[in-house]
Amino acid sequence: MIKVVDKIKEIRRLIKDLKNKGYKIGFVPTMGYFHEGHLALMKKAKRLSDKVVVSIFVNPTQFGPNEDLDKYPRDLKRDIKLAEEVGVDLIFAPDSNEMYEQDFQTWVTVEKLSKGLCGDFRPGHFKGVATVVTKLFNIVQPDIAIFGQKDYQQLLVIKRLVKDLNMPIEIVGHPIVREKDGLAMSSRNTYLSSKERESALSLYKSLKYAKELIKKGERSPSKIKNEIKNIITSYPLTKIEYIFLGDPHTLNPYSETIKDRVLIALAVWVGSTRLIDNIIIEIS
Ligand code: AMP
Repeated sequence: MIKVVDKIKEIRRLIKDLKNKGYKIGFVPTMGYFHEGHLALMKKAKRLSDKVVVSIFVNPTQFGPNEDLDKYPRDLKRDIKLAEEVGVDLIFAPDSNEMYEQDFQTWVTVEKLSKGLCGDFRPGHFKGVATVVTKLFNIVQPDIAIFGQKDYQQLLVIKRLVKDLNMPIEIVGHPIVREKDGLAMSSRNTYLSSKERESALSLYKSLKYAKELIKKGERSPSKIKNEIKNIITSYPLTKIEYIFLGDPHTLNPYSETIKDRVLIALAVWVGSTRLIDNIIIEIS
């Protein structure tokens, strides 16, 4: 039977028990409203550990003042059922007061990797992410934690933070899980009207086309960016926030020519919904 707890004291007690029994703890931090992407991460955690802990917390400190914190979709009952079906052992679902005391004032900042891409458009976002993940790691004390490559910059930020702060946790990435037509799964996809849903496909379409161009020999970042832009803007209701081409390790942009491996990452508004997607292309 899955256990669901909302207090730090309680989860610490349960984890201590599991650790005393020698179990390897796998952890999947989430904001809930599960889709197949979340469930794939949980299944991977299950394969790589003995007991799987999932946190569900819509973390207020990673949302900007004009972002969708209040309307972010939530359905704890459904989430518990889905998590149970894939064999999750423990859900930690605290409220904001449990996670942030009144006088809270300690923050974790991953300096360089938090800049550029989403960091430029969501000030304070990665500071909120790095801080809450550090807190969750301290609470859950997992041996291994799984993060999706859908939030690629976040994955790099977490990997860096674990190294820099000497946390004994293995960070494992999971490939992007997509709908049949290619749209990257996201809790935010529920915001999309049917017309917006059609336009949302432009992200994946443009990434696929960029991959084709590169395979055919195109190496100019500005030309590839232009092609991506043309595809996305040909769909109604879209507004590009950024198109990034650069080094998948450092997140330094490529300016003259792309080399070895390239990360292409996008953030696009479709109506009032902000979507992200990315692809990594090996240049052979
Ligand atoms: P969220 O609940 O959106 O904060 O996501 C929780 C975790 O699931 C993060 O590590 C995300 O990167 C990951 N995730 C979300 N959507 C996907 C997806 N479509 N494919 C793979 N991982 C995902």
